[in-house]
Amino acid sequence: MPKTSSQPHPEISQVMIIDGRNNFPISWLNKQGYCEYSIYLENVRGVEVKPTLKMVIGTEEHTRLEMEFQKDAEPTTFEGMLEKSLTTELLSRELPVISKLYGIRGYIDEVWMTPDQFIIIDDKPGNRAFASSINQVYGYCLAFQDMVKDERNIVAALRERGTDNIFWSAYFDEKSEKDIISLINRVQDLLIGKKDFIPTSNPRKCRSCRLKIKCDMKAKPGSR
Ligand code: SF4
Repeated sequence: MPKTSSQPHPEISQVMIIDGRNNFPISWLNKQGYCEYSIYLENVRGVEVKPTLKMVIGTEEHTRLEMEFQKDAEPTTFEGMLEKSLTTELLSRELPVISKLYGIRGYIDEVWMTPDQFIIIDDKPGNRAFASSINQVYGYCLAFQDMVKDERNIVAALRERGTDNIFWSAYFDEKSEKDIISLINRVQDLLIGKKDFIPTSNPRKCRSCRLKIKCDMKAKPGSR
């Protein structure tokens, strides 16, 4: 198998250059939907701010669920799981996915593998299916699909964190695949400077943004 070359991007934090292609975290698809300029501020300009309480609680909940899962988890390889799931239902948590082709990578909160389909679950703090959250889970679906090369259907799902409440789900079909590839290509264009990072024009988003104190592009009240 050819060796993969991988190194951090010299100017943009969290971006890796893998086999010559920029590779960014799939969670950025969520940030992109909220405000592209926030990615620019944090990762290109290097602005640092403290994490919000919501983020801290989210991380703690992640760790708790992961520890609970690990108590009964059986160690196995990804290939072994795929094979086994052709005849039985399996569950995996914090599954790492990477697509060199699309230049994305991340960890899927939970994957249910069944003989008929894969269900990709992303946990969210609330129960509203924002377009940006849907983009993120579709990004995981795309990376997963690129890794498994399996004919089984893929279902994307959003779940309220810490509960069993799946409040949104949809098949990862041809249209969603095409749309998410086009969005990923947009982010790739931002990274190479072919397009500009656009700030939101929604002042309500700016009001809840943790970067607002250091942002020079805040939307003015009444501008929308
Ligand atoms: S303050 Fe507004 S424009 Fe600035 S990064 Fe946050 S959401 Fe974007």
